[in-house]
Amino acid sequence: MRVICPHCHKKALITSTNELTGTVKDLYCICTNAKECGASFVFTLAYKHDLNPPQRTTLQIAATLINHLQPEQRKRLQVDLFG
Ligand SMILES: [Zn+2]
Repeated sequence: MRVICPHCHKKALITSTNELTGTVKDLYCICTNAKECGASFVFTLAYKHDLNPPQRTTLQIAATLINHLQPEQRKRLQVDLFG
């Protein structure tokens, strides 16, 4: 992960982190542009949302849907998937 200094827009280094919750961390950073800036600051890194659910969730959804099919529908699905 790259952090850019909000003041001079040069690369910054993460010097330490503080986990606030399981999905939120504060990142303590220092600007590498020591001659012209040298600022230190805190970024917050947080989980926002999924783009795709975890594989296990997808399998659970598929299993639930299959379990709700009638026996004839299951047979047709099996033929469609596996021939
Ligand atoms: Zn800077």
